[in-house]
Amino acid sequence: MTTTDLSENPPKYVEAALPVPLRRVFTYRVPAEISGSIQIGARLKLPFGRRSMTGYAVELHTELPADVEVDESKIRDVIELSDDEPLITPEILKLTQWTADYYASFWGEMLKASLPAGINSEKVRPRRRKSVRLIAGADANEGKALTETQLEILEILSGNGGEMLFTELLEQPGITPSPLNTLAKRGFVEVFVKEVDRDPLRNAIIPAKDDFTLTEEQSAALASIDEAVSTSQFRSFLLHGVTGSGKTEVYIRAMKHTLETGRSALMLVPEIALTPVFSRRLRAVFGSEVAILHSNLSQGERFDEWRRIRRGDARIAIGTRSAVFAPLENLGLVIVDEEHDPSYRQHESPFYNARDVAVMRAHMIGAVAVLGSATPAMESFYNAQTGKYEYLKLPERIGGRGLATAELVDMRDVFKRFGKDVPLSPELLDAIVETHKRGEQVIILLNRRGFSQFVLCRSCGETMKCKNCDITLTFHRGDNRLLCHYCNYRESVPKVCPKCESEYLYFVGEGTENIAATLAKRFPDMRIARVDRDTMSTKGEIDEVLLKFAAGGLDMLVGTQMIAKGHDFPNVTLVGVISVDIGLGLPDLRSAERTFQLITQVAGRAGRGKKAGRVLIQTYYPDHYALRFAKDQNYAGFYAEEIKYRQRLNYPPFFVLASILIKHRDRQQAAKMANLLRRSLDAANPAKNVRVLGPAPASIARLKNEYRLQIILKGINRRALRETIDIALADAEHHGCDLKTIFVEIDPVNLM
Ligand code: ADP
Ligand code: ZN
Ligand code: ZN
Repeated sequence: MTTTDLSENPPKYVEAALPVPLRRVFTYRVPAEISGSIQIGARLKLPFGRRSMTGYAVELHTELPADVEVDESKIRDVIELSDDEPLITPEILKLTQWTADYYASFWGEMLKASLPAGINSEKVRPRRRKSVRLIAGADANEGKALTETQLEILEILSGNGGEMLFTELLEQPGITPSPLNTLAKRGFVEVFVKEVDRDPLRNAIIPAKDDFTLTEEQSAALASIDEAVSTSQFRSFLLHGVTGSGKTEVYIRAMKHTLETGRSALMLVPEIALTPVFSRRLRAVFGSEVAILHSNLSQGERFDEWRRIRRGDARIAIGTRSAVFAPLENLGLVIVDEEHDPSYRQHESPFYNARDVAVMRAHMIGAVAVLGSATPAMESFYNAQTGKYEYLKLPERIGGRGLATAELVDMRDVFKRFGKDVPLSPELLDAIVETHKRGEQVIILLNRRGFSQFVLCRSCGETMKCKNCDITLTFHRGDNRLLCHYCNYRESVPKVCPKCESEYLYFVGEGTENIAATLAKRFPDMRIARVDRDTMSTKGEIDEVLLKFAAGGLDMLVGTQMIAKGHDFPNVTLVGVISVDIGLGLPDLRSAERTFQLITQVAGRAGRGKKAGRVLIQTYYPDHYALRFAKDQNYAGFYAEEIKYRQRLNYPPFFVLASILIKHRDRQQAAKMANLLRRSLDAANPAKNVRVLGPAPASIARLKNEYRLQIILKGINRRALRETIDIALADAEHHGCDLKTIFVEIDPVNLM
């Protein structure tokens, strides 16, 4: 791709990707001082308009490439080369380029997202510490006799492998800087500055390694994965194992095997599942070979862990979403645990789904991908059904423990009994009392926060739905109307329920945050903690509560999804699920799937020890199939029902979705841009391989002073969808549409 052989001629031009929402790279001139050291993958400080910003070298040229249309005199110089050793490996360069294209996103933004946060700022730097080391050969008996303290220092140093941090040495009783300095002057020791990695687990108590004999099912699953890793070819597996079936053990052994074959391994975990317990366990098994990348680390820790991977010191990386871009070389295995989890989806630009990028990464380099879940995403199970993924199953819990039984508490009935809204049913309150009496623990799961409002009939559970879309209408308080966010259908709020004529219509969407306070008042003798993103923001806070709960220092945890997954608390025998099915009323095609997954996952938290577990689910929808199948933990039944719905409404996995958001400060302009784009989408798609819905107001119709409209696309396949979008964007721009107002999201997780 380079114009001439770079090994003989130093590059004169560089093409750089910049973290800006533009689908192109930019050409700069390489000043002579850096042309000998610039490499593809290095960061560059570049002029951009009146500013300077950090870009990434993606191609080098000895001559101006023919396809660059800029006047040579207008090409500007690179200001500075930021890295002598490129931070970005060729593999990550290719992977980010593919990802940007797949998600109609921007390469430069994707490259920036692939690096640890804050790396471009001056604040994140390697940590340097003053250290002391013994100088070999130095003979303590030589020259003038040493003092006792001086001799002691030499002894301590040699007892510590000949080298220590200055501060560590000074912590020893009786040691002061003065004798140390004398030793240094006389050439016995050397004081120097050393880079010290910040270790996220530095103060953690690491558990002993456990050594199980795998069950037959675990062995069979592991054998398939190991065999695939040995062939060094791309293969992909769906590991479908019920909660507590020992998937984690399979991952750990598969990673071990991969290391033994001389290759590296990557494991992705959802935001919340990277429990303190799990990281410690991995450290016990892999020692310093494992690096940890997740959002609760400090920037410095993340930077150091990332550099350990880049240097090849850590050959196993565990992390959340952005760890999919961890610069591991010679990758043999990529694991995505809880692959259905929505936190793999990046919710702001650049959009991507780390699960799908992980599979692509494995595909590009001939590695093995393993997606694991107790409740696989519809798309993943469909891929297993159609043979795209090899299917592995762990159908039983370890130790023959049964899955917790789940009971539905019909809240319509509770409402009738009390004649008013009570958030906690007598059934659940009684169960809490009994559990506590036995000295066992309780988890209460609340709904997630921050959803839009919709109308629910308290008597029959009916929600008001769109006539065209089979999607719940959203209540807009401003004009007192119900609105469909897909097709723009609207109607006024009914006075009585259209189904049962009850007057008890209720606007759902508020008021779960008080549950923890209510519980605390009701059970003053119980030690209760609330865990969610609102109450806990600082690093370590969540860890602390979870560890305390695991150690029996708390009787009850109240929280959102965060506490639903991944944790292993043997003394929890009651899980109460409160209003979690509110999701079922949301205008979201995945609400049934989400609800099913969430309840199954949380039910998996109960009864993991020797005692049996009980799960109580409060619901207004006891007849909904998501609830019925979740109650019985029947994945196959749920899948069979849900896939029919997806097929009927042209949803994934049968169709590929995109959502296009149009944002503008001026209402008319927003509408104008949206209509221009709609026209171009229709023109770009004469064969109607892509169905276009909207524009309609987005569920948040105005945000930060901007009006927001939404267009939904349903494509018969990915290529048709991407082509239509590309052609339409170019056409719309040609007709005066400002592309800066347009935000494309491929495979949106929520259509809201
Ligand atoms: P999953 O990830 O499928 O929910 P885990 O891997 O957490 O399940 O396993 C559940 C529990 O069983 C854990 O406490 C784990 O240590 C234990 N376990 C896993 N495999 C075995 C085994 N072969 N023998 C005994 N205990 C095991
Ligand atoms: Zn509609
Ligand atoms: Zn009704």
